[in-house]
Amino acid sequence: MISGGCRCGATRYTLAVDVIPPVYCCHCLDCQSWSGSAFSEQAVVRTDALSITGPAIDYLYQTRSDAESHQRLCGVCHTRIYNTNTARPGIALLRAGTLDASDKVVPRAHIWVKRKQPWVSIADDVPTFDANAPPAEFIAILMGARS
Ligand SMILES: [Zn+2]
Ligand SMILES: [Zn+2]
Repeated sequence: MISGGCRCGATRYTLAVDVIPPVYCCHCLDCQSWSGSAFSEQAVVRTDALSITGPAIDYLYQTRSDAESHQRLCGVCHTRIYNTNTARPGIALLRAGTLDASDKVVPRAHIWVKRKQPWVSIADDVPTFDANAPPAEFIAILMGARS
């Protein structure tokens, strides 16, 4: 069981999985704004494996491609915990920095590196993409076997 939560502790979640789910980093400007940081760290999880407790609120955001992005935040401290998107049913993107074991996260890929802040350096053996990754290749990278 993997667990995590918001900064204030009011909102907690568990993931019904044995190992930390695959994580990628996105360096796009939207992710920099959302996170207030250089990039976002996204763990890809199945929504049916995710159980959240506490006063989470749902912020609905209409994407440019007219999909609905539901952002779940702690209702107390407003930490952004995860989001779902009507274009990706059954999948949640969880902010990997909210994992209790965030120190064990090893990102498998970096996307939107053309917007990467110049001081961020990425290990040579980690795949990078200028913008969005081609879906099939991205899924193969994320779901590929790696301990
Ligand atoms: Zn909170
Ligand atoms: Zn992004």
